[in-house]
Amino acid sequence: MELDKMDENDWKYHGEGNKSLVVSHSQHCRVLRLLKFPSEDSVHTRQTAEQAFRHILNIVDYSKYVMKPLLGDKYVHSGEVVKLPLDFVRQLSLKVQQERPELRCDKVMDTFSGCGLCLPNLTQLPLHHLRDHRPPICVEIKPKCGFLPYSRHITKEFKRKVCRFCMHQHFKLANGKWKRLSRYCPLDLFSGSKQRMFVALKHLLEEPQNNLKIFKGGELIYSCQDDAKQQPDLNDLIQHLRPYFPHGNSLYNGHQSGKAILNEFIQVICSALLSGGDTNRSGEPRKVHLSESGLYCEASPFPRELLRNGNHSLPKDSVLAKILQVQILDNLDIEGIYPLFKRIEQYLEEVPKERNRLQVDGPYTESFMDTVKNCPTEDDGSVEYAVGKVHQYRVAMTAKDCSTMITFAPCGEDDEEHQPNLEIQPTKPRFTYSVSILDLDPKPYEGIPHQFKLDTKIVNYYLRNTQTPP
Ligand code: ATP
Ligand code: MG
Ligand code: ZN
Ligand code: MG
Repeated sequence: MELDKMDENDWKYHGEGNKSLVVSHSQHCRVLRLLKFPSEDSVHTRQTAEQAFRHILNIVDYSKYVMKPLLGDKYVHSGEVVKLPLDFVRQLSLKVQQERPELRCDKVMDTFSGCGLCLPNLTQLPLHHLRDHRPPICVEIKPKCGFLPYSRHITKEFKRKVCRFCMHQHFKLANGKWKRLSRYCPLDLFSGSKQRMFVALKHLLEEPQNNLKIFKGGELIYSCQDDAKQQPDLNDLIQHLRPYFPHGNSLYNGHQSGKAILNEFIQVICSALLSGGDTNRSGEPRKVHLSESGLYCEASPFPRELLRNGNHSLPKDSVLAKILQVQILDNLDIEGIYPLFKRIEQYLEEVPKERNRLQVDGPYTESFMDTVKNCPTEDDGSVEYAVGKVHQYRVAMTAKDCSTMITFAPCGEDDEEHQPNLEIQPTKPRFTYSVSILDLDPKPYEGIPHQFKLDTKIVNYYLRNTQTPP
């Protein structure tokens, strides 16, 4: 890819989140991630090109020096900052505009700085088309927070029983963000129990919201509809998946029933989530036990009587174990963090020049990471302790908001013919897959007061509206 010969016709709209818009290359397995800004921002408050460059560099540094060492090399692709011709970026912005979902159009793509992030296209498997004509399927999951807080700073006991995601659902419904409640509970997905994970994934498929997207050959085929009134069509998805699951036990009219296909599909996702990241790893995985964190959310639709003790563990190197391990760095909860934030603010009011040394706004170098790793466990009243805990909290927030991508494809053409002896060859893998973690941006230090207020609102709303007084 030659940066001075960029042509907008080689790129197409791929997707977007709250912070960035992504375009993919039509031939190479590459995407460009471009930042977005609120459209009402006046020219004066817009970042300068220099600031935008710094901002993107911070994102890459944070991924490289902070998140990657914590989550593991094999899952994280940090990408590189690229300087793009302004003309290219402007043409691209015009080209993608009509493809953008309406609910995302409150923000505009950055067409001023010419900076972007170049990443591998994780919805694809490079060179896969040489082995099989069926394009890779990619499942993107935004799992959210997988444990119940256990901090002694918590004032509302309910937070120890019902998880943040489940509480937040009610608040989002009331605010019109979604039209229906999701029955997904992150604690089931992170449980390590195949039964609970299956149920969690089934609920994600039924109501994907912004927690699930499915791609085929790099194209989005299943996600939450724009107007959110309509549920996405599971039958469409089944038709897409049918060629990938040609055999099975429950044959109906010569092919599998839709339900059987979805079951197999969910099982493939489950195995990938429990694996060490790729198909070619073996050995009995070591398990991560999460005894100190809450294991079951009272709002989950998973029947409590089916919970079995000792079943709750994730293999140590699995993507979910890695994400959870980082999420748990938030061990004080926002209720314990907010007072520490105020301690830092007060200190910086007295000694403003310390802001750089304390690295509250980056740069996200190895020394930032040292503070995260070596933060004392006991509060000695120092500003250093406060900074360490706030850094840890922010790192955990990133892990609570990241996504994981599971991309898989059939191993080869020969698999497509009906193989009656498949059952007696249980070790032959049918799919090859790769698992990655994306969207690892730093969460702003200044966002902490907002997080504190939001937490109070969500919990109060939940208590008022779902708990009937005795
Ligand atoms: P959020 O609102 O979740 O914070 P964001 O604005 O930070 O999102 P991303 O999640 O990084 O943006 O990207 C938006 C979407 O673009 C993703 O959900 C994913 O579907 C797609 N995407 C991002 N990076 C890649 C990649 N490397 N390969 C393929 N698709 C990608
Ligand atoms: Mg995202
Ligand atoms: Zn829950
Ligand atoms: Mg993000």
